[in-house]
Amino acid sequence: MNTERNDAPAASNFIRNIIDDDNRSGKWGQRVETRFPPEPNGYLHIGHAKSICLNFGVARSYGGVCHLRFDDTNPEKESVEYVDSIIDSVRWLGFEWEKGGKDHLYYASDYYDKLYEFAELLIQRGKAYVDSQSAEEMRVNRGSATEVGTPSRFRERPVDENLDLFRRMKAGEFKEGEHVLRAKIDMSSPNFNMRDPVIYRIRFAHHYRTGDTWCVYPMYDYTHCISDALENITHSLCTLEFEDHRPLYDWILNELAEAGIFTRPLPQQIEFSRLNLTYAITSKRRLLQLVNEGHVDGWDDPRLPTIVGVRRRGFTPESIQLFCERIGVTKVDSWIDMSVFEGALRDDLDEKAPRIAAVLDPLKLIIDNFPEGVTEPCSAPVHPHHPEQGVREFPISRELWIEREDYNEAPPKGYFRLFPGNKVRLRYGYVIECIGADKDEHGNVVAVHCNYFPDSKSGTEGANNYKVKGNIHWVSAAAACPAEVRIYDRLFREPQPDAGGRDFLEALNPDSKRVVNAYLEPGASNALPEQRYQFERHGYFVADRVDSKPGKAVFNRIVSLRDSWGKPA
Ligand code: ATP
Ligand code: MG
Repeated sequence: MNTERNDAPAASNFIRNIIDDDNRSGKWGQRVETRFPPEPNGYLHIGHAKSICLNFGVARSYGGVCHLRFDDTNPEKESVEYVDSIIDSVRWLGFEWEKGGKDHLYYASDYYDKLYEFAELLIQRGKAYVDSQSAEEMRVNRGSATEVGTPSRFRERPVDENLDLFRRMKAGEFKEGEHVLRAKIDMSSPNFNMRDPVIYRIRFAHHYRTGDTWCVYPMYDYTHCISDALENITHSLCTLEFEDHRPLYDWILNELAEAGIFTRPLPQQIEFSRLNLTYAITSKRRLLQLVNEGHVDGWDDPRLPTIVGVRRRGFTPESIQLFCERIGVTKVDSWIDMSVFEGALRDDLDEKAPRIAAVLDPLKLIIDNFPEGVTEPCSAPVHPHHPEQGVREFPISRELWIEREDYNEAPPKGYFRLFPGNKVRLRYGYVIECIGADKDEHGNVVAVHCNYFPDSKSGTEGANNYKVKGNIHWVSAAAACPAEVRIYDRLFREPQPDAGGRDFLEALNPDSKRVVNAYLEPGASNALPEQRYQFERHGYFVADRVDSKPGKAVFNRIVSLRDSWGKPA
């Protein structure tokens, strides 16, 4: 597993090397134009973020532009809902597609007229034909890895007949599957994609943008390269599974260049390895299953690796960009460990997140010798490394909340927190000595009692006279901000949930979400949605962007302070 870290911004990679070479040779002038081409058939996930950061990042650093293009040629699966969420996610990640007053937002469906016109041109040039074999015949005649394909008996149809049939396909005269349009390339090519691939099929389907205008739809491979060329894309970056499609990409553009439609140089397809993240599922189909079967609470469930999910979880756009820089771009498929993703978040938030105290598993602490009804101000730095951010104030009073695990009647060796007779410091407050605890009829501790030393307050002169080994956090019971805190953990117990053909649902982590009633430092009651904090000793938390309201604080744990997955607590 690759867990290397690399802080250098915009580290060089093989794609940048290609662009540098092109800039040196003047192939494109100095123009760099990329595109991110999602199909609006689902929500974006962290794998897409890699492609987004790469495409938009490369364009940005070379002073170029990256287009956002919806590759929407499968009418059955696409919708405006997905378009909107994709636009939102790409913006949120920190990218834009305007340049010099031009909005580079495109839809492949806007090219349907051109795509159709070019298909007729290919027919006229003897480079495409209407095939009327059954689907089964076509499958058999495609051949296999060891056998060349068999040409269709319709392959040598005259141009006029092809043109007539194709026009009638468009006019809706035939049923789905009755005919397809195929590129006439090479039935004996070792590359399946070159064995006369289908470029148009009949579909009586309503398209979310073009409605019922069309009943023939272009195939992805045909559409993609032409869209690139129409938009003057220079470098068309895609994932490795398209490597075998590159000869087809080049063939189509070359044929259309020969026909005088496009000028050279033609866009260049360059493949890179996709992101595989441990403990996460990035297949759209499986994400859909998790949502539809109710294993998670919707597309933006904070446990999902969707962009809306990681946003709700509390990840920052900067941490995702940092992550993508660190993992780099190569042609080698690999798995990236979830800890690298979480590490990027910690590194981003460590600098930015204000600190507060939060008690997640509250137990009452009563300071017996502290006068009732009195409060005293305490203060602490907002950020320990940034004194310029000032101090935060919070009161101490007779009754406090502490973590249940900070009291132990029968302490194991090396336990320095509260037990009868032991002294600890209340962080930013006083030194206290534990006297004992109250229990309920079942023997559960319900309150801990202690006395405090009035001359031990942090920041005052006498404070250093007290040497204690334990230091615990607390909040004043009267002033605390009550909060619902959702403790999220990894959604799967296995690093590769679907490895070896296993049912990935079996690897679901039953403890991936725990909800606790916590008490936070009073300042947290002003938290705006998406405000992030470091809860001291606990980790990074965010005010939930959907459920947190004034008067009802709801926080999500983004990540713990350290990577403790799989290690004993
Ligand atoms: P589908 O199976 O529906 O095609 P997809 O994940 O490929 O799913 P697209 O909308 O086609 O989704 O993807 C848009 C772009 O994001 C493509 O260029 C694709 O190569 C890239 N992409 C998708 N998944 C990853 C991934 N895990 N890592 C890097 N890039 C990815
Ligand atoms: Mg795809």
